[in-house]
Amino acid sequence: MAYEPLQVDREGRILDDVPCSGCDHSLKGIVAGALCPDCGETIALSTLGRAVCRADSNGRIDEPVACTTCHHILRGIDPNGVCPECQMPVGPSLEANLLRYSNRHWVKKVADGLLLYVIALGLSVLLGIIGAILMRVLQTNPALVAIIMITISVVSGAFLTLALWWVTSPDPDTPITAQKRLGANLARYSIIPQFICSAGVGALAQVTAGSQNQVLVGLLQIPVGILGMIVAIGMLLHFRQLALRVIDEKLAQWARTILGLNVGGTILAMIGLSVIYGAALLNGGAMPTAGGPPPSGPMLVGMIVGGAAGCVGGLISLTATIWMIVLIFKLRGYFAPAAKAAAERAME
Ligand SMILES: [Zn+2]
Ligand SMILES: [Zn+2]
Repeated sequence: MAYEPLQVDREGRILDDVPCSGCDHSLKGIVAGALCPDCGETIALSTLGRAVCRADSNGRIDEPVACTTCHHILRGIDPNGVCPECQMPVGPSLEANLLRYSNRHWVKKVADGLLLYVIALGLSVLLGIIGAILMRVLQTNPALVAIIMITISVVSGAFLTLALWWVTSPDPDTPITAQKRLGANLARYSIIPQFICSAGVGALAQVTAGSQNQVLVGLLQIPVGILGMIVAIGMLLHFRQLALRVIDEKLAQWARTILGLNVGGTILAMIGLSVIYGAALLNGGAMPTAGGPPPSGPMLVGMIVGGAAGCVGGLISLTATIWMIVLIFKLRGYFAPAAKAAAERAME
């Protein structure tokens, strides 16, 4: 398949008359890495099959764009030729990721945010494990455990919030419809209440452990879980938009699948928790303790049914989280090289 070259200027603006695939308006003079100012369609969709690049007077590539197969820099090559390193046609490397012509500060922020988000997820798991160990060691001092748990929630929550804020930052150069920003806004405005509530409920759970109020505090975990689910839904909707921006339909579909798994897993886990605490309320409002009599009657049934639902739901949510990390790395595979190319272009 021959790739017809499509030239852009130093700022990445399209030099030829190309109709937008969404609204048919001419894209001449529009930055190739942006969205159509009239209909909001990703411009890369309208230039599919064309080798987009800045060319010199001889029609050779005149920018530091990398081969998508071997990462060789293709400057000086004919846009219809092959990569001198791997012999693959150059066209697909020029057609693919037009993010290199997007706002370089935005592309870098999203690329860095994606990496920080994975680090923050890892950090919150690590801090959670440390917290669980400290809870066992410091069993006799519930106030101290509560302080440590709050600190852990605040530290991991702050990292996650910062990462989320970067990943969902709006591209300042291109108008985005409210519908496309829905996921980003949902995640942005639910993460702070989510982490304040989870820190508060975590601390209350420590203070009330073993008391009559333990079950009521346990029930508070359900709204916290649902808030967490809303953050995840927002992030996955936003990841889907980022995948659509780089024209990776498969990745966009994948974000949808993970969203379904996340919602299903969280709801199942919340049902499990409700069954356990509901049974405890029937049991006179007390959870069975390690040293006390073994659970029987409704409490036993509740613990078995609720525990099973909670375990299955938790496993589904864990699978969704692992898949989400893979998805983030795949997205970063688009944004990180584009950020590098955009930075190099700006330095010329
Ligand atoms: Zn349009
Ligand atoms: Zn190559």
